[in-house]
Amino acid sequence: MSRRSAAAPQVSDVVVLGGGAAGLSLAHRLAEIAGPPDSPGVSPPLTLTLVEAPDGPLRPPERTWCHWHRDHPGDDGGTDGTGTDGDGDGLDEAVVASWSRLRVHGADGRALTVDPAPLRYRMIRSTGFESLVRARLAGSPGARLLRATADTVREAADGAVVHCTAPDGGALSLRARLVFDSRPPRVLPPARTHLLQHFRGWFVRTGVPRFDPAVADLMDFRVPQPRHGLAFGYVLPLAADRALVEYTEFSRAPLATEAYEAALDHYCRDVLGLGALTVEAAEQGVIPMTDGRFARRAGRSVFRIGTAGGATRPATGYTFAAVQRQSRAVAAALRAGRTSVPPPHGRRALAMDAVLLRALDTGRVDGPAFFTDLFRRVPAERLLRFLDGGTSLWEEFGVGLRTPVGPMLRTALELPFLPRRPPSAPSTGESHR
Ligand SMILES: Cc1cc2nc3c(=O)[nH]c(=O)nc-3n(C[C@H](O)[C@H](O)[C@H](O)COP(=O)(O)OP(=O)(O)OC[C@H]3O[C@@H](n4cnc5c(N)ncnc54)[C@H](O)[C@@H]3O)c2cc1C
Repeated sequence: MSRRSAAAPQVSDVVVLGGGAAGLSLAHRLAEIAGPPDSPGVSPPLTLTLVEAPDGPLRPPERTWCHWHRDHPGDDGGTDGTGTDGDGDGLDEAVVASWSRLRVHGADGRALTVDPAPLRYRMIRSTGFESLVRARLAGSPGARLLRATADTVREAADGAVVHCTAPDGGALSLRARLVFDSRPPRVLPPARTHLLQHFRGWFVRTGVPRFDPAVADLMDFRVPQPRHGLAFGYVLPLAADRALVEYTEFSRAPLATEAYEAALDHYCRDVLGLGALTVEAAEQGVIPMTDGRFARRAGRSVFRIGTAGGATRPATGYTFAAVQRQSRAVAAALRAGRTSVPPPHGRRALAMDAVLLRALDTGRVDGPAFFTDLFRRVPAERLLRFLDGGTSLWEEFGVGLRTPVGPMLRTALELPFLPRRPPSAPSTGESHR
């Protein structure tokens, strides 16, 4: 008898694999409709298992997830078409900071501060989000958290079976009508452009107050630019003397940690003039920026979510807002007795990103000037909706006119004739300190 068939599968309606941004977000939404079969007022009642990898190499370190949030009383948090969360998304408890004003510094040193009201930029720490979702699952009679490593997922007659390894090394299997798999992809799909957003950030404490906690610096191009791609600083103040300060590049390969440290040191001391500071913690990551096609479906009953399912916006690396939108839609469909997993990003957004990625990769557009001009020439709220895929065709046309039209058009025309190639080295959204 094989080890796998030793015990009968544990059964639930839905199994979510991976407790990162996408898995936690979906579990958070599904917990609202999870209950035992006879739950009063819940129709249809749903049972849910969230599989989180045990502590060890599969679990990423604590991370920071920022996104735009609609900050307007009366917004219902539903599908508002803005591409952003609405109020009442239940995540407030996990928000550690938020900013109503955003600043961009051009390479020429000029600063532009914008107020994207009613949108606010907010920060969630992964550990806070985990605690929130675990508490939500513990309070939902039909939901549970399972610590195990998911090894394989196989289609079965009426759903799918997930084979897992428990922390004690034992085998266990889960049977479900639907499986949502957020395990990071081992290899990225073939694409015309493979760029990476790679960065390192310091949580700094300064000797004297140096930050304005009301303003977040989204892109600061006063840093030396790499030969290929672009680089910028990013500052999220948490108090007058505390901030997350990051150095980010969009380019083809990550740097060695020492190179990020040197860039951060230069940015903190010579550009921001922070003076004496203590680095209290660090965060580092690599996010794929590619126009590869991520399959959303891995079988009749198996869906990929998160970065694995194409939720990372190719031209920005932002993922969290798309994951919220998709989780909300999946839960709404299941609540109505249907199964629907809408694409995380629309076709137009992906097509425009493909053009921008290629234009940046070929050096046809100057990255710092491109992004700075967009912030200077497009109203902030509209631009953020555009970056989140929530603009109308007409609005997108207007934004397009504020980009270098010639190089963008030339790039758009050549894209259909370019082959999609596998990435030269495997790369995922893995983060490490
Ligand atoms: C450091 C960092 C900062 C980022 N900041 C932002 C940001 O501010 N805003 C934004 O929009 N995006 C951000 N991103 C991009 C993106 O939002 C994140 O990468 C996000 O975590 C992707 O969510 P995910 O669920 O697809 O993957 P993950 O969050 O990586 O989740 C995957 C989960 O699968 C689990 N897992 C893996 N293998 C197994 C297995 N075999 N069995 C069980 N579980 C398994 C892992 O433990 C993990 O919990 C950031 C990325 C990084 C790396």
